[in-house]
This record gives sequence, structure tokens and C-alpha cells, in this order.
Amino acid sequence: MPNYPCPQCERVFSRRASLRNHVRSHDSVVDRVLREIADKVEEEVIREQLMEIDASDNEREDANDNEQEDANDDEQEDASDDKREERRYKR
Ligand SMILES: [Zn+2]
Repeated sequence: MPNYPCPQCERVFSRRASLRNHVRSHDSVVDRVLREIADKVEEEVIREQLMEIDASDNEREDANDNEQEDANDDEQEDASDDKREERRYKR
């Protein structure tokens, strides 16, 4: 039978989840500080990653999508349509 002894006190738990919950309530102060530090570090890393992703995505998408699609669709369709209609008209 597996035993999970609490490192902070004498209690022993048969389930790891129980020990986890117990330890959490135990050193909530240490846990809170550690979590805050971890959260801050994670937030900063995530923010940096998001900013990098945003910057690269915007530049790439704006340049490719807008110029290529707009230029191709508008100019080609309009130009060919107009020319056809003009030709028909002249003939
Ligand atoms: Zn304990």
C-alpha cells in the first residue's frame, strides 16, 4: 500500500492527491509566493512571445494578403471586363 508522507508534518496519506491538497493548505504562504513568482515570469514570457508573434504576423499578413489579393482581383477583373465591354461596344 503506497504511503505519501507529508514533508511538513507527521501525517501520511494513501493517495497522492490527498497529500497534494494537504500540502497546499499547509504551506500556503510558500506556495503563494512561488506561484506569484511563477505567474509573473510566465506572464512576461507569454507577453514577449505574443508581441513577437503579433509583430511578425501583422507584417507578413498585411503585405501578402492585402497587396496580392486586392491587386490581382480588382485589376484583373475590372480590366478584363472593361476591355471586353469596350471591344463589344466598338464592334
Ligand atoms: Zn502536513
